[in-house]
Amino acid sequence: MHVTLVGTGLSSLLLAEALLRRSPKARLTLVGPRRPLGAHLLSYWSDRPTPFDPFEVASWRALDVFAAGRLHHVPLTRYRYRTVRGRDWAETALARVLASGRAEHVDATALRIDDDLVRPTVVFGGGQVSSDWVFASSADPTATPDAVQQFEGWLVEAQGAGARAPVLMDFRTESAGDLRFVYALPLGPHRLFVEHVSYRPCLHRFALEQYLREVVGLKRWELVDRELGATPLFRDGLPRSEGRVVRIGVAAGLAKASTGYAALRLWRDAEAVAAALAERGELPVRLKWPSLYRVADRFFVDLLRRDPTHLEALLAALFSAADGDAVLAFLDEQAGPAEQARVARAMPEWLSSALLGERP
Ligand SMILES: Cc1cc2nc3c(=O)[nH]c(=O)nc-3n(C[C@H](O)[C@H](O)[C@H](O)COP(=O)(O)OP(=O)(O)OC[C@H]3O[C@@H](n4cnc5c(N)ncnc54)[C@H](O)[C@@H]3O)c2cc1C
Repeated sequence: MHVTLVGTGLSSLLLAEALLRRSPKARLTLVGPRRPLGAHLLSYWSDRPTPFDPFEVASWRALDVFAAGRLHHVPLTRYRYRTVRGRDWAETALARVLASGRAEHVDATALRIDDDLVRPTVVFGGGQVSSDWVFASSADPTATPDAVQQFEGWLVEAQGAGARAPVLMDFRTESAGDLRFVYALPLGPHRLFVEHVSYRPCLHRFALEQYLREVVGLKRWELVDRELGATPLFRDGLPRSEGRVVRIGVAAGLAKASTGYAALRLWRDAEAVAAALAERGELPVRLKWPSLYRVADRFFVDLLRRDPTHLEALLAALFSAADGDAVLAFLDEQAGPAEQARVARAMPEWLSSALLGERP
């Protein structure tokens, strides 16, 4: 089996590693410009080992959420929240894939993909490659996202800046009629990673400066690193192609609509795709998407578009009424029945109504 992967980012590398491990005869061609991963740091929560863990910078068994004027301390038992060096993971993964002797890298941008339904062809400047399957993480120009999570993150250094609890969400930033919050992780005694998230364009820089001065209480700091991002979110997910050209990654709608987190979903998707190809030589496969999560994601995106300022109160209610493990399991679509019930009970009445298919 010969597989072409378009892109050398997170989803392609996770799939390349899974294919090499599960299909001993698979040969891979990765087509993509040699660019470092957009995410310098990656964060996620997990109750089991992940491929990213060896690149850990820090991990926590409790998080804070500051919402609706109140601090919610969220201890975790089942989960651990981790931050890892995403770029270093990607570089190491690409080196490992190429060292397998079963993969090659073409340092080029794919210009088009010709799908003859049997052996699709990826055309790039100066050449082309035909294979049994193409998995493409490049943007799909035909898919318009329902929302875009936009953010800018700073790694700053200042005396004592890291001597604080990790903050998953802090709404002490101007909302301007949008859903906006800051996320702040101490990554060393004098290091703090702060990220400002919005769903409409805004000047993240001003919000970050204001947060560092007014909430963290810093007078000055050194900017050590900076990352920028925009994650497309799809209310209903995207249908998975049924032919031999298959979209993967956030461009395929795999970022979780209500959180913007993608890393572990991409990992689970890569393992599911590689397992299906190894066991049956067949796709399509789709991540299971139980209706409870689908309804909650749709509700989140609809509210984001209609009345985003309501979401702060919703999140405050969720984190104050349900335990952190249940909320994180629910947000990562890994909740067991008891955790689902605890989250459903914690939801304010108007969200419970939406989950039952009614408008608030
Ligand atoms: C700054 C930033 C921080 C993030 N932090 C987190 C986080 O903490 N936790 C989390 O869960 N998620 C996070 N995300 C979201 C998500 O996990 C990342 O965006 C992740 O990199 C998505 O993987 P991907 O493979 O879909 O896209 P990418 O990793 O962006 O890979 C796409 C690849 O396609 C290539 N490409 C594009 N067009 C072409 C073409 N025509 N031909 C060939 N190659 C092409 C690109 O060069 C790139 O290599 C973050 C995203 C960003 C941008």
